[in-house]
Amino acid sequence: MTFTAATDRLAVAREIYATLGLYDPKRAPVDLDLTDNTNLWGMPPAAEATLRALAVSSVTRYPSLYASELKAALAEYMGVTPEMVVTGCGSDDILDSAMRAFGEPGELVAWSDPSFAMIPIFAQMNALRAQGVLERADHQPDVDALLALRAKVLYLCTPNNPTGAVMPREVIEHMLDASPGVVVVDEAYAEFAGTSVVELTHRHDRLLVVRTLSKAFGLAGLRLGYAVGAPALVAEVEKSRGPYKANAVAERVGVVALRDDRAWVAEHVALAVDARERLAAQLRAAGFRPLPSHANFVCVPVAQCVAVGQAMRARGVAVRPFPALPHVGDTLRMSVGPWPLVERMLGAFLEANREVNG
Ligand code: PMP
Repeated sequence: MTFTAATDRLAVAREIYATLGLYDPKRAPVDLDLTDNTNLWGMPPAAEATLRALAVSSVTRYPSLYASELKAALAEYMGVTPEMVVTGCGSDDILDSAMRAFGEPGELVAWSDPSFAMIPIFAQMNALRAQGVLERADHQPDVDALLALRAKVLYLCTPNNPTGAVMPREVIEHMLDASPGVVVVDEAYAEFAGTSVVELTHRHDRLLVVRTLSKAFGLAGLRLGYAVGAPALVAEVEKSRGPYKANAVAERVGVVALRDDRAWVAEHVALAVDARERLAAQLRAAGFRPLPSHANFVCVPVAQCVAVGQAMRARGVAVRPFPALPHVGDTLRMSVGPWPLVERMLGAFLEANREVNG
């Protein structure tokens, strides 16, 4: 028996799912993978010790319903109360749950394009309409065009994936004041920028700030995301999310990381920022014009980015191509990590670029 292509639609399938694909960032195993902006220094030490020492019995029972201990630890980290925090199975889960919580089927999710590739997919999964609005040439959102859509859910990502650009707080506040729906600010990479709009959640009851332990905290495999917002807003996301989404192992390790590994995280954020600036400087010295980035990755415009990416893969190194990135053209996004790895990546990139572009 063979599985059918999307054109032979399963009779019982939802119509809106007919064109819905699976997320495929083309991450075939490779020796050095710099495609997903995770923490290449590994996991923080107290979290690792906790994971190794966990009793088997901790997985035979259900975890807490809504991750109350983790919420308390996150609230402390973010300087808010636990009622202002919701957790999820990665921030993916938070974004998905928030769209389901606030968007009636057919309502609009809007975002400044380009941004996180999962946003239109989550919108479609929740039977919402999705519309990106081309950003300006300076990589800032086209505020008036975004607001004109009157979207029920407005998604903003800062620092943005893939450009690395940070949105000024005044721009976010203006959009909060002028938009009719929920404003989701994705701060997955906020630790690397050293800025956050989380304190605006005390004044704006339609602002949901989404964060993750997948990047600066080095715990992507545990799938722990969270969001901060006014208690009533967060409660709706939690209803939509449902119980038991943070598993018992993840909750235990996450709590310890937030309590005991903050110095490690700060130290490795500083190393990532250092590696990012060093990489950008070396790219500039080699004649490239990398986009200024406030995250743990660097985007560099390069002709035939897909072919260059493949030539890098042939050398055991993966980075993420973004063909025809708006206002930029073909681009490669390179995650940073320990300098020897970045140096190896840079060598592979320069060789691959010579091979492809001469
Ligand atoms: N938001 C952004 C901007 C991201 O880049 C990512 C991961 N690539 C996520 C959210 C999801 O991360 P996670 O589900 O691991 O928290």
